[in-house]
Amino acid sequence: MKTSYEVAVIGGGIIGSAIAYYLAKEQIDVAVFEENQIGAKATSAAAGMLGAHSECEGDVNVFFPFARYSQSLYSKLKDELYGLSGIDLGYRKGGILKLAFSDRDKKELATMLAQPTVTWLEAEEVRKLERDVSPHIVGAAYIQDDINVLPIGVCQAFAKSAQVMGASIFDYTKVLHIKKQHDTFLIETTRGLVEAKRVVIASGVWSTTFFKELGLQYQMTPVKGECISVTDEQAVLKHTIFHDKYYIVPRNNGKLVIGATMKENDWTEQVSLNGIETLIQKAKELLPTSAHMKIDSVWSGLRPQTFDQKPFIGHHPEDESILFATGHYRNGILLAPATGEMIANLILKRDVKKEWIEAFRIDRGKPLTV
Ligand SMILES: Cc1cc2nc3c(=O)[nH]c(=O)nc-3n(C[C@H](O)[C@H](O)[C@H](O)COP(=O)(O)OP(=O)(O)OC[C@H]3O[C@@H](n4cnc5c(N)ncnc54)[C@H](O)[C@@H]3O)c2cc1C
Repeated sequence: MKTSYEVAVIGGGIIGSAIAYYLAKEQIDVAVFEENQIGAKATSAAAGMLGAHSECEGDVNVFFPFARYSQSLYSKLKDELYGLSGIDLGYRKGGILKLAFSDRDKKELATMLAQPTVTWLEAEEVRKLERDVSPHIVGAAYIQDDINVLPIGVCQAFAKSAQVMGASIFDYTKVLHIKKQHDTFLIETTRGLVEAKRVVIASGVWSTTFFKELGLQYQMTPVKGECISVTDEQAVLKHTIFHDKYYIVPRNNGKLVIGATMKENDWTEQVSLNGIETLIQKAKELLPTSAHMKIDSVWSGLRPQTFDQKPFIGHHPEDESILFATGHYRNGILLAPATGEMIANLILKRDVKKEWIEAFRIDRGKPLTV
């Protein structure tokens, strides 16, 4: 194995893989080190909604435009990545119906309904789009241009495309320690020692180890999420339906993903009976016909959460050669393209929107003590 790189990315989830892609595109000599298979952790657990509207309504000034920008990059990426890697991203239009079961639910959708691309549909209009939806809804916010993708496909396509353009991808290679000697990083991995001029920490919920090693007192908290996949033999559902953080997402292969539980500070990666019970109950509530569907699989993953639920994207406060791209919480699939591009632009010293630098800098708030 080559032992010297311009940039070493620690973690080969969707974030690390997207960074490798945008760097390789600029002919930067980049290597990704991934302890497991590429995309094996939070990335493969994700449902794949690119829900800029449904997830980012709380911050319309910075987070929402960043998410919308990232979402918009997908329409070009689906062809670009397919051309380079031959991997289908499972890109699916159709939109999201955010259901309201009461006037209170409807009121909570008010900020979202103020967006020009979101419309309110009364219950009977919703049923024209989705005939099997719950009979108890009063209506839904219809976000026509939110889309969904197959997360593991996107991650593998980023990594393979980066490799095609010259990146080195090392799966099953754990990074044990990072030390700086003069202006070079010595990176100890389970496959031996490598050197790099810059490092990017993209290790999801496991990034805390590297914060400590690089002199920062920050912490990542896991928020465990469980999902079920069922087969929709009649291909009934055309749109993602969403209520109270739970959703049913139709995929191109006729499967529906029912997600997802939220269990803060739970590091266990096994699926629990309680989790499955909650999801089944919620699925039957949103789409009563789902009761007859066959279960294909169940899984779980750990969402990487920062203190304010916004990602850390940017430089180490005291060392420009260390960068962070982690803590994408519920939205790593949505935010991967914009994150990868932003890290590449920071490394290339190109312009990056000042408000994005400020919003995502790691030292923006009070650090949590470890
Ligand atoms: C149930 C569920 C549903 C979700 N649904 C959505 C959704 O619909 N839309 C959306 O946008 N987001 C969704 N998310 C969130 C999304 O999955 C995450 O935000 C995203 O995957 C984070 O990507 P990542 O690359 O930072 O982390 P990960 O995918 O966890 O990747 C980090 C990688 O770093 C590796 N690593 C850690 N330590 C080391 C080390 N020492 N050396 C080498 N490698 C190391 C790990 O093995 C891992 O592969 C969901 C998450 C869950 C759990």
